Amino acid sequence: MSAHIIDGKAAAARVLQQVRHDVNTLKAEGIEPALAVILVGNDAASEVYVRNKILRAGEAGIHSLEHRLPANSSQARLLALIAELNADNTVNGILLQLPLPAHIEENRVLQAIDPGKDVDGFHSENVGGLSQGRNVLTPCTPSGCLHLLEETCGDLSGKHAVVIGRSNIVGKPMAALLLQAHCSVTVVHSRSNDARALCQLADIVVAAVGRPRLIDASWLKRGAVVIDVGINRIEDHGRSRLVGDVDFDSASEVAAAITPVPGGVGPMTIAFLMKNTVTAARQQAHAQRSQSEAVCLSTC
Ligand code: NAP
Repeated sequence: MSAHIIDGKAAAARVLQQVRHDVNTLKAEGIEPALAVILVGNDAASEVYVRNKILRAGEAGIHSLEHRLPANSSQARLLALIAELNADNTVNGILLQLPLPAHIEENRVLQAIDPGKDVDGFHSENVGGLSQGRNVLTPCTPSGCLHLLEETCGDLSGKHAVVIGRSNIVGKPMAALLLQAHCSVTVVHSRSNDARALCQLADIVVAAVGRPRLIDASWLKRGAVVIDVGINRIEDHGRSRLVGDVDFDSASEVAAAITPVPGGVGPMTIAFLMKNTVTAARQQAHAQRSQSEAVCLSTC
């Protein structure tokens, strides 16, 4: 058996095409979607991620504003910038690039972002909303994974999904989204007793572990659909290259469909960041309209 390769680049291009269409519709209504990206310090990988996000925003017709703070900026300085962006009606989405320098409390500053502008979906109001099944901004990487699964499998209802990893940014929200899509969900982690045996029962496997090629064919049921979130840099025959958490060659022999690394989940993350920015812009415009109507009704 040779698995169908799920083309994340093509799927992301389709999402971005829809985003461009939605941006044009908003612009025709006089709404100019804008994303503020904050980068603290000069971590090399973060620089690349921020550059790509700004590039994609431009391609989608979304206005982007880059805010760079030096690595030694105080937490108070960062909080002041977030407060400024929260209050700015021309900014619809705020993305704080992680990781932050060690002296800044990540959770404290993430909670300072207006939940309506929290396009990463990390604010506890959005996290809680997701677990309650409310219509909130959801984290980009798991949202992109769910989209790939729905495009590949259609209705996910009743399927058994195993999520490997329980981080706040991937594993937990992934499990919540799969539950919302009516899957039976098992989450495994480093303390699970026999994660491999649990994984062997899965129709759907989402690997978000951060361990190069940990999941090989022996973890998979024949015909499983495999989404590989992992991005790991390894040395291979003297060359540095990226691999996932799944051993692609071995897993492809038993899986029905699988994402490659690179070219699988990665492009979906940025596409969903743009989608969330448009959603945020639409919701804010709607809220402002309702507010003006309420003021008009109370004064007329
Ligand atoms: P993380 O915060 O380090 O979490 C890793 C999770 O894997 C933890 O829950 C850990 O369990 C679990 N784990 C570790 N070893 C395990 C094992 N042997 N068996 C079962 N579970 C194990 O990582 P993350 O932020 O979720 O990221 C995971 C991977 O996705 C990384 O490679 C990252 O680079 C990649 N990533 C990609 C994108 C993208 O856009 N494609 C976005 C985000 C992350 P414990 O909780 O018990 O420690």
